Amino acid sequence: MTSIPAERSTPVVLPVSKAVLWLGLTVLAALLLYYFVGVDQGAVSVFGSDTHVHEFVHDARHLLGFPCH
Ligand SMILES: [Zn+2]
Repeated sequence: MTSIPAERSTPVVLPVSKAVLWLGLTVLAALLLYYFVGVDQGAVSVFGSDTHVHEFVHDARHLLGFPCH
């Protein structure tokens, strides 16, 4: 196993305000994705009575524990 010499490694310095911004945007994007996966129930579909979104995210729905059958 090789290790990186200390003088060659560069620490990542990230201001707290930027870290909070990126963490907040990541959480928001994750919540939007979670909502998108969960909202399409087939009967209550994003695009009317079309079930393409439901079928496209079907396995993700099972993984997240949403009931669908
Ligand atoms: Zn299913």
